[in-house]
Amino acid sequence: IFAAVEMAPRDPILGLNEAFAADTRAEKVNLGVGVYYDDNGKIPLLGAVRAAEKTRLEAMPPRGYQPIEGPAAYNGAVQNLLFGKGSELATSGQVVTVEALGGTGALKVGADYLKRLLPGASVYISDPSWENHRALFESAGFPVQTYAYYDAATRGVNFAGMKASLEAAPAGSIIVLHACCHNPTGADLSDAQWDEVVAACRNRGLVPFLDMAYQGFADGIDADAVAVRAFSASGLQFFVSSSFSKSFSLYGERVGALSIVTASKEEAGRVLSQVKRVIRTNYSNPPIHGGAIVAAVLNSPELRQQWEDELAGMRDRIRAMRTSLVEQLKAEGVAQDFSFVIKQRGMFSYTGLTAGQVEKLKADFGIYAVSTGRICLAALNSKNIGYVAKAIAQVVKG
Ligand code: PMP
Repeated sequence: IFAAVEMAPRDPILGLNEAFAADTRAEKVNLGVGVYYDDNGKIPLLGAVRAAEKTRLEAMPPRGYQPIEGPAAYNGAVQNLLFGKGSELATSGQVVTVEALGGTGALKVGADYLKRLLPGASVYISDPSWENHRALFESAGFPVQTYAYYDAATRGVNFAGMKASLEAAPAGSIIVLHACCHNPTGADLSDAQWDEVVAACRNRGLVPFLDMAYQGFADGIDADAVAVRAFSASGLQFFVSSSFSKSFSLYGERVGALSIVTASKEEAGRVLSQVKRVIRTNYSNPPIHGGAIVAAVLNSPELRQQWEDELAGMRDRIRAMRTSLVEQLKAEGVAQDFSFVIKQRGMFSYTGLTAGQVEKLKADFGIYAVSTGRICLAALNSKNIGYVAKAIAQVVKG
């Protein structure tokens, strides 16, 4: 039965990791992945996570099945992060929140549910977007198109183009929006532009799906929720996927959530019953550990404060790497203005390096980046940044 199976294309980013692992050069640097490393080049285990895990391990709780939608303590904590503690949406009962297997799992549950709800819809993702957006929604059965987003000339958002795309999308289309820290470009909308996107969604009858994979990585928990809060205030119905992979440094625990803002508590009950069917036929119910840790941290005032401090530490370190990279490129005699790197938000920078330059970084220096020129600033540290800056300087100077 497998004789005619064709080899599927390699995932571009995971493929990069494999090539990096096989590289024997000691000075090699992997700027391709979307993972936060500390200044020692290690994935941190946050102190707040460590404390919550210690308490949990000491309690040695039994491992029964969880509710299909995950525990209420977790889902409530997710709503507080997204909508604000005590906010109308977090208290009204009109939001359905289900625990999911990371942000990817949340997008997948949302996509599968949307396919049942709006089988004839098209999905629009930003141009460019996180590679998996297209694959995820296509695998749920949707045709996937793009809306204009990145402007290579300004290295910012082509907002006029984006609005024109949204205004041309058929009513009922699903619009996938990066809530903050756009992956891969690092270019985000301003608060006023978010208001215009909300208005366009309302006018065209579009279905917004906000992907929140980096809450806290740009400016802070509430500041990074600006898009979610703008949609919340609009009275529209929308979807949000949350990921705690980066913000809690819990990548492999697969912790995320899908939230669906409905029009009423009664409507939420019916929507939840349908989403539970999607989950039940996929993986039945979520695993316990990661969600329990996140809920314990978010629901304890002390651990929550500790986590916010640690999150701020990660954010500040990335910012420091942005500034330092720009300064060191200048010091290396690069004439081109790289100051846009400082303005980009989140973990990534679209550097403008060409595929040829990226290839040269790999071949000559063992520095791995995505062929689009995307680099992960969180993989830079005080030890490797000088080497990386020198290498980039050499390839851009030709
Ligand atoms: N959305 C975006 C924009 C992302 O960058 C990522 C992670 N790279 C995800 C979703 C998925 O997150 P997770 O690893 O929690 O599945």
